[in-house]
Amino acid sequence: MQKRRTFLKNTGLLLGGISILPQYAFKPCFQKEKLGVCLVGLGNYSENLLAPALQLTEHCELRGIVTGSPEKIPVWQKRYGLPDKNVYNYNTMGAIANNPDIDVIYIVLPTGLHAQYAIKAANTGKHVWCEKPMAKTAKECREIIDACEKNKVKLSIGYRMQHEPNTRKIMEWSKTKPFGPIENVRAEVGWNITNPPNTWRMDAELGGGLIYDVGVYNINAMRYTTGLEPVTVTARHENTRPQVYKEVAETTIFNLEFPEGIAANGKTTAAESINILRVDCEKGWYELSPFQAYRGVKGQAGDGTQLNTYIENQQAKQMDDDALAILENRPMMVPGEEGMKDIIIVEAINKSASTGQVVKLL
Ligand code: NAD
Repeated sequence: MQKRRTFLKNTGLLLGGISILPQYAFKPCFQKEKLGVCLVGLGNYSENLLAPALQLTEHCELRGIVTGSPEKIPVWQKRYGLPDKNVYNYNTMGAIANNPDIDVIYIVLPTGLHAQYAIKAANTGKHVWCEKPMAKTAKECREIIDACEKNKVKLSIGYRMQHEPNTRKIMEWSKTKPFGPIENVRAEVGWNITNPPNTWRMDAELGGGLIYDVGVYNINAMRYTTGLEPVTVTARHENTRPQVYKEVAETTIFNLEFPEGIAANGKTTAAESINILRVDCEKGWYELSPFQAYRGVKGQAGDGTQLNTYIENQQAKQMDDDALAILENRPMMVPGEEGMKDIIIVEAINKSASTGQVVKLL
């Protein structure tokens, strides 16, 4: 059978990584050699990024959904040919344990709900993929890891950047150091959001706040750029719109001190459009800008080296990498510990911002 990706490419029906085939093209014909993925939470990321990407993947495919919104069920069933037996709600999802169509449960809920449902997913005996940020607290992250270990299932966190080729080059340079020892890292991400919608992202209890939603990209980048773990954290929150950002900070500015005297400066904000990862070394520099984007991650080094490898669809690459690791019983590229390390730092950032003190990590 001609691979769907090849078919889409050859027929020109792939536009910027998004299929423009009519919806009736997605009919059920589950391929046994692929892993079956069940998406939990059918919000924006599932609907507009993950489900379309699962039409491009070679090693996994969409086979089930868990939703608390009954009106979405017929739409998803029609669009993706999902049978009734593969449709669940939050109360019935435990029954996925007995569904051989489903191999992986992917948690795509508000951050504050990740731990509860990732643990529920692990207890079905299926592998677990969990969106970033992994959870609200390091304690919750540990509970997810423990549940997966207890059930002997694999756990991966949805850090798609770690699967992106230009980012992987930067990760490689943390070991090979082509421009000598790293001295400074700057990771800043933000958008000038003029009318932020009042969703769970504004709700502290549900894990809202820029430092969780976006800040984990900066923190993760500082860690994969240096290949090291920070020893101290200093941070402050800023809020120019307290009537809008009532529970969570609009902007967080933080400094992580790494071993070997490396300083890392981060900013995450809803008040300014920025997107840069800059690394200054003893004998040169390199940067990615944007470094956190669905498409068009690119950059350069001071010696003229270009970092502009094209990737069709980051989410498809991430899910294929993770599916293949499960099929070949290899370690996951971004395991739970990777998500937990970032949340430990988020908690330290929040502590430093509220106390005004330097927080020691090691
Ligand atoms: P969203 O608000 O669009 O969707 C959230 C979904 O959760 C909705 O379907 C909603 O009905 C459901 N839900 C269940 N219980 C809820 C409750 N108590 N309150 C609110 N919603 C509830 O959010 P999203 O943008 O799809 O984000 C979902 C997850 O995906 C988050 O963890 C987010 O950080 C992550 N995400 C990751 C990326 C990435 O690039 N890796 C991008 C976007 C979002």
